[in-house]
Amino acid sequence: MTRRSAATTGGSAATASEPSADLVLIGGSVLTMDEAGSRAEAVAVAGGRILAVGAQADIEPLIGANTRVIDLDGRALLPGINDSHLHAAWLGARWPHTFFGAPDPEVAAQLSGALAVDREARRAAILNAGRMLSELGITSYTEPGIGPGEDDGETGCFHSEVLDVYRELAAEGELQQRVTMLALYGVLDGPSDVETVLSGIRERAAAAPEPEPTWLNVPGVKIFGDLIPLSRQAWTDRAYDDGTHGDLLVNGDSIEQKAEGLAEMIRAAHAAGLQIGLHATGDRTIGLALDAIAEAAAQPGAPTSQQLGHVIIHGDLATSDQVRRMAKLGVWFNAQPGIATITGSWLASMMGADAAAEAWQFGAALDAGVLVLSSDAPVLHFDWRHWVAAAEERIVMMGGDASPEVASARLHRLLRAYTAVPAAQDRAASWKGTVEVGKVADLVVLARDPFEVGAEGLPEVPVDLTVLDGQVIFER
Ligand SMILES: [Zn+2]
Repeated sequence: MTRRSAATTGGSAATASEPSADLVLIGGSVLTMDEAGSRAEAVAVAGGRILAVGAQADIEPLIGANTRVIDLDGRALLPGINDSHLHAAWLGARWPHTFFGAPDPEVAAQLSGALAVDREARRAAILNAGRMLSELGITSYTEPGIGPGEDDGETGCFHSEVLDVYRELAAEGELQQRVTMLALYGVLDGPSDVETVLSGIRERAAAAPEPEPTWLNVPGVKIFGDLIPLSRQAWTDRAYDDGTHGDLLVNGDSIEQKAEGLAEMIRAAHAAGLQIGLHATGDRTIGLALDAIAEAAAQPGAPTSQQLGHVIIHGDLATSDQVRRMAKLGVWFNAQPGIATITGSWLASMMGADAAAEAWQFGAALDAGVLVLSSDAPVLHFDWRHWVAAAEERIVMMGGDASPEVASARLHRLLRAYTAVPAAQDRAASWKGTVEVGKVADLVVLARDPFEVGAEGLPEVPVDLTVLDGQVIFER
């Protein structure tokens, strides 16, 4: 850890010609979450952007008559948390009935049918989720799958109108997080019709960009590759206990035909310049997807996969070789560590201890630089502190070095997987995700420095304050 030098941060800001700050947070440990792990003592904010980061003495001259000054009193300040796979409308409508870890599991399991049937209910659900997320320092999320594929869906939480409601909230300045959305043309968790998805891809590619993409952006599409190992529907090399290998979520008469349909959807979305968020858990599905991406990117004049930032969502059974291939291709591995904790022994019972031991390759993904952490709320709780701890637990369980020095360096990277890296997934690394001059002032204050307590102690560290676009939106 190095302290940022005044020359690169606040030093130049401390001149008479600089405007005074709207907000100054001073006297703490500013964890910038840049790659080097730089630290500072204070941050100044003006016009919703970070004006200066540096030592206390660099920032003090920026305090004017109208500056709100928050004394950090030794607490930690980080960039706002980005939950890069979270169904906010569904979360807001279901709360507190998450699928795992609900306060009343029986009610949660039985909760079915319509949850948000009209515009008003959808708006209320998004606002409800937004308020809860802001209380945990979450300032960005990806809403992965809203669109016509679910206009007849059971819950109403993924209906096309949800996008209209987001637009309305963005225009009114009512959003409590910055939202990236993936459009959904197939059905949720069910088999897609290839032609329907292909026509959706054409429609999405022709759609006008959102007017304020720093608040609401729709860079691409959600596609379902396969389902999950626990229903024996992840498409796998290894057999399940019943001798089957799972399936793909694509309509077709044979697995070969389904595989070709999925590859065609992926190639078409890539060729159209869209980001693909692919729900894929089985190693065979992931291999197919990486082949299709590589093939699409190799076409003359096609964008590179790095430019589009495709995402393998879940990736439970991705092999370590596949993870390294993701890095080569510039494909993100968006994982939910809580799933490993909760379903690990279940997977072992269905696929064998070896399969369970090799699943959830978070350490390999972290080393390859492709790991992005998320909650998948309301499948799991959105409390990111637990999922950072769960990722650490899984990595150590799989043989990761647990010595304090290595664990500390790894904590830095795990925290980046909830801040800087998802900003890259959002194709927004130039303006959010770290505490650096010129970036948006989306910040979170934790009661203690996470490096003092380690990943396993993080869940006990209270979130004290959330700043979004330079405004304090939550104070404990
Ligand atoms: Zn999900």
